[in-house]
Amino acid sequence: MSFEYLGLSDEILSALKDAGYSEPTPIQAKAIPSILQGRDILGIAQTGTGKTASFTLPMIDILSQGRARARMPRSLILEPTRELAAQVAESFEKYGKNSKLTMALLIGGVAFADQERLLDRGVDVLIATPGRLLDHVERGRVMLTGTEVLVVDEADRMLDMGFIPDVERICKLMPQTLQTLFFSATMPKEIKQLTDQFLKNPKTIEVSPPSSTASTITQKLVPVAAHDKVKRQALRHLLRGEDVKNGIIFCNRKKEVKVVCKSLKIHGFSVGELHGDLPQETRMEILSQFKGGEIQFLVASDVAARGLDIPSVSHVFNFDIPTNPEDYVHRIGRTGRAGKEGHAFTLSTPRDKKYLDALIKFLGKEIEEEIYPEFQNKPEERKKTSAARKERKTRDDHSPRQSKKKKSSRRDAAEKDEPVIGMGDHIPAFLLRDG
Ligand code: ADP
Ligand code: MG
Repeated sequence: MSFEYLGLSDEILSALKDAGYSEPTPIQAKAIPSILQGRDILGIAQTGTGKTASFTLPMIDILSQGRARARMPRSLILEPTRELAAQVAESFEKYGKNSKLTMALLIGGVAFADQERLLDRGVDVLIATPGRLLDHVERGRVMLTGTEVLVVDEADRMLDMGFIPDVERICKLMPQTLQTLFFSATMPKEIKQLTDQFLKNPKTIEVSPPSSTASTITQKLVPVAAHDKVKRQALRHLLRGEDVKNGIIFCNRKKEVKVVCKSLKIHGFSVGELHGDLPQETRMEILSQFKGGEIQFLVASDVAARGLDIPSVSHVFNFDIPTNPEDYVHRIGRTGRAGKEGHAFTLSTPRDKKYLDALIKFLGKEIEEEIYPEFQNKPEERKKTSAARKERKTRDDHSPRQSKKKKSSRRDAAEKDEPVIGMGDHIPAFLLRDG
């Protein structure tokens, strides 16, 4: 199937050719024609499957007719983080390079005088984070009554970040004639309710079951003895794997990110860290070094797991099993993007049992184990754990042992080192460019 059959204009087809896209991804193939027909869409597809182009491409054509009025954007795209907003803006620049659409970006934390000037003049596309947008609406700097198309991207992420009340408020400020597009990797019931409320006779496009992981990713579970040292040894062993070109190593806590990164550096790995405690310039710098191949590995908290598009990551390593099973899908979605092959390894210690159970329940299937005897202190104990897991599957309630209780209270304390959401206050580089 080629892009030519989707009803897109020649200008877009030529931009796509320049971008090197030969055929649409499944969500693009299904969503684009319906969006061009003016339908509301609920698009669910796992991360890395090209959802951005699913809405940007038809929007460019829809908006090519008509003109923007002062302070009344003709379309609005809501994104949960400023990085994602910046990424979508870059996509618009890339796919819309043959069109004359104007665009502005309103993202949290920083004042952008030039973006506000653009808005004052009128823009075809406004990309915003919900809080920042409402701020502007309240100050009378933006009016939503002229909006023709609304996109709520990463709807599940919006939910996680507590943006849903803001999204609801924004939806209510929209005109009746609005075309609304929702995109999400997963479909929690809160999002379903929202779409029932705000989408008119939507076409639901689901290219794979919700919460599933891309089939181009091979997933392995690597059991290790609980000790941190053994865990880091196991990680190094995996990192030295033959086909490992580059990779992201996810840890649950930023403290862990620092420890793992430092230890990998000591062992001679080319590695950088990414978490919310770093100054914004450092984060952008590290990300671009990783994208550019100057550093081979990135140790990250879940901050980097959602939405950020880093092409060609061959491997994802979960140093910890995520406490929230959905994060697993997002983490491993950093590899295997756009049909490329990817590999995900997850280290699992007996301490992670609770999270492993939750993950397997969420995925609806076991993750294939890869056993390295050297990383298991006592082989007979390992047998016990896997036997115990089998037993657990058939037995729902069992009273926790005393020792387990102690461990979990320690873990609770550690969890107070809260996960970081968003990447803080950085300003995307292209916004700082002149002109
Ligand atoms: P999602 O929003 O579903 O997580 P993205 O829209 O960020 O995914 O796209 C993931 C990657 O796939 C991006 O690098 C994008 O440039 C690339 N991509 C999207 N569509 C195509 C296509 N039709 N052909 C090749 N690459 C594509
Ligand atoms: Mg996306």
